[in-house]
Amino acid sequence: MSDVLALDGGAPVRTAPFPSVSSPAGRTLGVEEERAVVDVVRSGQLNSTVGGVTRGFEQDFARYYGVPHAVASGSGTSAIHLAVAAVDPEPGDEIITTGLSDAGTVLPILAQNAVPVFADVDPATGNLDVESVRARITSRTRAIIAVHLFGQPAPVVELRALADDHGIVLIEDCAQAYLTAVSPDGALAGTVGHLGCFSLQQSKHITAGDGGLTITSDDALARRARLFADKAWPRDTDERTHLFLGLNYRMTELQAAVARVQLTKLAGVVEDRRRSAKALTDVVTGLAGLTAAASEGMSYWQFPVFIDPDVAGADAHWYARALAAEGIPASGGYIQRPLYLTPVFTERRTYGSSGYPLSVPPADSVPEYAPGLCPVTEELIGARLLVIAWNEKYTSDDVADIAAALEKVHASRA
Ligand SMILES: *Cc1c(COP(=O)(O)O)cnc(C)c1O
Repeated sequence: MSDVLALDGGAPVRTAPFPSVSSPAGRTLGVEEERAVVDVVRSGQLNSTVGGVTRGFEQDFARYYGVPHAVASGSGTSAIHLAVAAVDPEPGDEIITTGLSDAGTVLPILAQNAVPVFADVDPATGNLDVESVRARITSRTRAIIAVHLFGQPAPVVELRALADDHGIVLIEDCAQAYLTAVSPDGALAGTVGHLGCFSLQQSKHITAGDGGLTITSDDALARRARLFADKAWPRDTDERTHLFLGLNYRMTELQAAVARVQLTKLAGVVEDRRRSAKALTDVVTGLAGLTAAASEGMSYWQFPVFIDPDVAGADAHWYARALAAEGIPASGGYIQRPLYLTPVFTERRTYGSSGYPLSVPPADSVPEYAPGLCPVTEELIGARLLVIAWNEKYTSDDVADIAAALEKVHASRA
């Protein structure tokens, strides 16, 4: 193998494509899903208010997670909107969350007229820092939304205790964290908070194109979430009325047909991702200035590498460029800027020109979303977070190529 970096014109480590979440080779979609979709089409019942597939999928998912309630909806974003709507904040109430996530974590807060308050993250994981969350609790805080970033367990046991101390609700965003174990006793991400939210979008462990699930053990929260997703129409009462402001976020029977089969493959997907990730973790551990995710319960939506640029000889963005040139699917920072530095926040582009709810009223003061708000979040995005795409179909040869490329680019710098 050439020592000259592909970035400098050398031969790349890898030229063949990797299995990826946007190609059939990197998904577990097969004839079982095809048949399930065809069955729904032939049934003539494509909507969950007439067919039974979505309700069956909800029951399967609830049983899978050992909780009494699962409510299906059209996306991971809507799953979180259901959770926020179930909490039913007053306009201007605050919900504490992270700026290092998909926008689907925070947009539902604004949509429900609450104010996102951003806490900083742990530099070792990118997950919410409990002390930072604690410091941001005010008399207007109604909930915390914790994200299990890349499938790494967020400190939800501690956050649940904190939430209970303050009489507020903990929502877990598990869009990247199917079957993530959050405690030594194996408790699953999504079951420690009051509500857990999942996504079936194309890039997640299992997919129906789009789709979402909101789980809870609380009967009242479940009822509000279910009503919110269906125009607050209490169909179980025969009465055509609307009990509060709800929307139509229903999952279709076509989505549910695919998702229900995908769920049967989930354990295998996570097992395969964990097994191949172990091999790369062993290699990363030997590279000075590079650290792989440490936690046992991790489910590897992606493979994050935390970089100390002083020791590693370059920052995460250089490593990402060098790896991409070697043919490895890698990127720097995960997102380009913290969520609080996107125009929806910095320019308060919400409802017309009102700035609502980031205005007074309903907020007590206009929240400031500016650089420096969460320094660790900004450092991870700007310099320290390298993300290697991960997939259940990676072979040991695929992982060996990633390891070889990582060793090659590291040797040129460190
Ligand atoms: C994907 C994702 C979402 C949003 O899910 P969609 O299905 O794309 O709406 C929310 N939070 C996190 C952490 C995600 O990864």
